[in-house]
Amino acid sequence: HAKSCGKNTYRFYSRKLNTRAQKRLEIENALRSANVEKDFYVLYQPIHDAKTQRISGFEALIRWNQEGSVPIGPDQFIPVAEETGIIFALSEFVLRTACRETQYLLKEGLGPLRVAVNLSAQQLYQKDFADRVQRMLRETGLPPAALELELTESTLIPNIRQTARVLQQLNKEGIRIAIDDFGTGYSSLNYLHRLPIQTLKIDKSFIQDAPDSKLAGNLVATMSMLAQNLGKRIVAEGVENLEQFEFALEKHCDEIQGFYFNSPVNHETLYKLLKEDRIQHGAMSQLPPAPT
Ligand code: C2E
Ligand code: MG
Ligand code: MG
Ligand code: MG
Repeated sequence: HAKSCGKNTYRFYSRKLNTRAQKRLEIENALRSANVEKDFYVLYQPIHDAKTQRISGFEALIRWNQEGSVPIGPDQFIPVAEETGIIFALSEFVLRTACRETQYLLKEGLGPLRVAVNLSAQQLYQKDFADRVQRMLRETGLPPAALELELTESTLIPNIRQTARVLQQLNKEGIRIAIDDFGTGYSSLNYLHRLPIQTLKIDKSFIQDAPDSKLAGNLVATMSMLAQNLGKRIVAEGVENLEQFEFALEKHCDEIQGFYFNSPVNHETLYKLLKEDRIQHGAMSQLPPAPT
């Protein structure tokens, strides 16, 4: 408490630190009083096949609906949700929404599709996490192969044995696992053969520096070669312009995600984008009529 530290210590605190702590506290309080189903929603950012540019899937991204105030992005509130345990309710909401809405698109004949959902470390440490995911798939009817779970290296490493157990259980069912923000975490690549991983998503910082920076370019080329040698799919994240798209193509990235193709959109817009995409790629004519 500031008072018990004495006046001098209190004055020593930088204004900046106080503002940051205060901001964090405000987020925490707002999170605690939020109604998950009402105050949050899910957007989807399409992921495109690099060669055909056809939409092969999308990533579910949570948004906080705060009318009238400056929007707070997941980069700001997810860490607070993780520290306070609120992440469990948020993640459950995102996973359920993503599974249900993706299954709807599959039923509409818009597949094949894969939905990528971000996970937090705490979820992997839940004893029954894999069972929960399987239950969710049964409830929503989504085939396991249509779900990909995204994890960062820093989430995987600290407890690799427990992580391996959970991921193997999920993967055995057909659920896919991706490493998110690949290249920004640990330098040891040992985990790549200890864990069942199908996809590497190159962090957007590399893609954005790459066309101009020789080092970033070499790193992307190396990551892509590594993925190829290990038989993993590689996704370029954060592709914002033609130059970056061509660069990712040249480096043999399998899939592309970024503002150059699409920003995150709501479910209704995603549906329209997929319809257009399927017509453009001549896939709609072979489709069965939409189920009732
Ligand atoms: P991420 O999983 O790496 O997601 C990609 C982020 O990059 C998204 O930011 C997306 O909007 C943004 N992005 C996509 N294309 C571009 C581009 O071309 N340029 C740039 N500059 N950015 C691009 P968003 O939605 O703000 O999410 C930020 C992070 O918050 C995510 O990074 C993820 O780590 C976390 N997050 C989002 N939704 C969830 C969730 O449901 N659960 C958990 N645990 N974390 C989430
Ligand atoms: Mg992600
Ligand atoms: Mg990422
Ligand atoms: Mg991230």
